[in-house]
Amino acid sequence: MKFYVTTPIYYVNAEPTVGSGYSTIAADVLARYHRLRGDDVLFTTGTDENASKVLRVAEQRGLAPRAFVDQMAASYRQAWGELNIAYDDFIRTTEDRQRVAVQAFFDAIYRNGDLYLDKYEGWYCVSDETYFAESELIDGHCPNPECGKPVEKLSETSYFFRFSKYADRLLAHIESNPGFLLPEFRKNEAVKFIEGGLRDVCVSRRSTWGIPLPSSIPDSEGMVVYVWADALVNYLTCAGYPDDQKRFERYWPADVHIMAKDIFVRFHATLWPAMLMSAGLPLPKHVAAHGYWTVGGQKIAKSGGGSVPRPGPVLDTIVAETGCSRARAVDALRYYVLREMSFGQDGEFSGESLLARYGNDLANDLGNLLNRVLPMVARYRDGKLPQPCPPDPDMQAAARAAVGGWEAAIETLDFSAGLRAIWSFLSAANRFVDWQAPWSLAKQGEQEKLDGVLYTAAEAIRIAAVLISPVMPDTADEIEKQLGLTGWQRTWEQAGQWGLLPGGLAIGQPSPVFPRLDQSKKAQKSAPAPEVKPVEKELISIREFQKLDLRVGEVLTAEAVPGANKLLKLTVDIGGEVRTMVAGVALAYRPEDLVGKRVVVVANLEPATIRGVRSEGMLLAGWVKGDDQSITLVAPERALPKGSKVS
Ligand SMILES: [Zn+2]
Repeated sequence: MKFYVTTPIYYVNAEPTVGSGYSTIAADVLARYHRLRGDDVLFTTGTDENASKVLRVAEQRGLAPRAFVDQMAASYRQAWGELNIAYDDFIRTTEDRQRVAVQAFFDAIYRNGDLYLDKYEGWYCVSDETYFAESELIDGHCPNPECGKPVEKLSETSYFFRFSKYADRLLAHIESNPGFLLPEFRKNEAVKFIEGGLRDVCVSRRSTWGIPLPSSIPDSEGMVVYVWADALVNYLTCAGYPDDQKRFERYWPADVHIMAKDIFVRFHATLWPAMLMSAGLPLPKHVAAHGYWTVGGQKIAKSGGGSVPRPGPVLDTIVAETGCSRARAVDALRYYVLREMSFGQDGEFSGESLLARYGNDLANDLGNLLNRVLPMVARYRDGKLPQPCPPDPDMQAAARAAVGGWEAAIETLDFSAGLRAIWSFLSAANRFVDWQAPWSLAKQGEQEKLDGVLYTAAEAIRIAAVLISPVMPDTADEIEKQLGLTGWQRTWEQAGQWGLLPGGLAIGQPSPVFPRLDQSKKAQKSAPAPEVKPVEKELISIREFQKLDLRVGEVLTAEAVPGANKLLKLTVDIGGEVRTMVAGVALAYRPEDLVGKRVVVVANLEPATIRGVRSEGMLLAGWVKGDDQSITLVAPERALPKGSKVS
């Protein structure tokens, strides 16, 4: 099987951001996953260097255009290197192979009768490289709300592509190929755009910078290919078009083009397929658009100044805040962007939520599993894994669900759902360890049982390493190293198999994969503690639940709190200890109703002073949301002594 995945080629007018990083990380994850499956993968990215604004930006920076694009291409390569992006090809559209491909491609669509000369009169925004009709302008300026720059009047003879001719064929293709455009709601936007009527598009410009139209096209002297039409052809160039027929037949059509939504409807979902139809070439299998990253609700603009998150500084922050290695920070960032953004929707980027994910998902769920199990193997079994045991049915089922969940998510590029499936498995493994309590088994001398628990937990860790490896390749390597799997050939199939760890395997040196600076070190820093954004529907482990000290208590006295119509001040006997508590139950209970009642109390809640009364605990109650009169205290269903533990 072959698998060809592309990112957009990035405009060289600005440095890489977390936004372009996301497209690239997503493509990298798909590529790594397919390599793990043994597929023959082609993963391409690159830079779009033929825009006419390159001339202006280069001039502003006092550089020759060539030197400027060299510098910018290098900065993209460096950024992708930093994010551990394993691309197979990095194309620059100023390369000769791109000129050859673009000219062959334009020759083909010209011969097919889809290019014609016409007078173009209208407005052009150099910054956006986009033509606008007079009616689209706002006070004579570019209508793009992020741009708003003055536009230029263009009046020149240009070549036009018969885009309008392909409307029906495009609609038919979209209709008969579900999944061609992803996600579904973006597909609908493209369909609406086509149904609204396609205008033929200008595909040439007069410029000294760019790829000249092929000489086979008459009257094209001094004309270069419009940068958008040129850029899209890179996907063919990387696959060997037009000269390497064998390579081209192997890799084309692409399996997935990935991009942000701004270049989806007008370009990748409509113009590009129409151009391919004109050239008589097959269409890509999937064209998938993701949303924007926002910061404080605002789209991250590539050129937008100091607040734009760029990969390097974000990695610096992770290292500084957690004390982890650079390689681990890279994996944390890759995990964060894929987990936090639901593919297709916009996602909010913040350092706080990144550090919260680091703490909850990586240090706790993933890191703790490893940090608990391996030291027990070291302590109880002298660092050697016990012999394989029959699989625990629950753990095996949880592993299968994670494998299936990830595979299904990959089909629709729903990385966030795929990671959630993997994290459910990690939670199951942590619960398994909690419930089996190997430390107690060791104390009780239950050797055989202890062997089984340690082996099962180690297998879960091995499987987790395979599952996370497309997203966190370096962490997966480290986990396998700590398991003692040196020279291990990782494959996707191994995630679905149970019992692969050899008995007697000497484990490596355990150390936390996602360390955290301890609180005292953190306190030394002057930076305020990050506000942790609540994570939606977060699961807690049994250990976290067990931190709650819930006890049966008896209400001894109850009285109103002056000036607060919803509050009662209670004294509650929680078994040899009498506590004062303020409870918001006055609309549902009269004080005298409560005296003598058995209630359930959170006994280890931090004390708080409410209306001048020090409250040392909380009563559990249920209610209908929005209706304070419905408040009903939770009580033991049968009599229990005061102070009884509730869990
Ligand atoms: Zn503009």
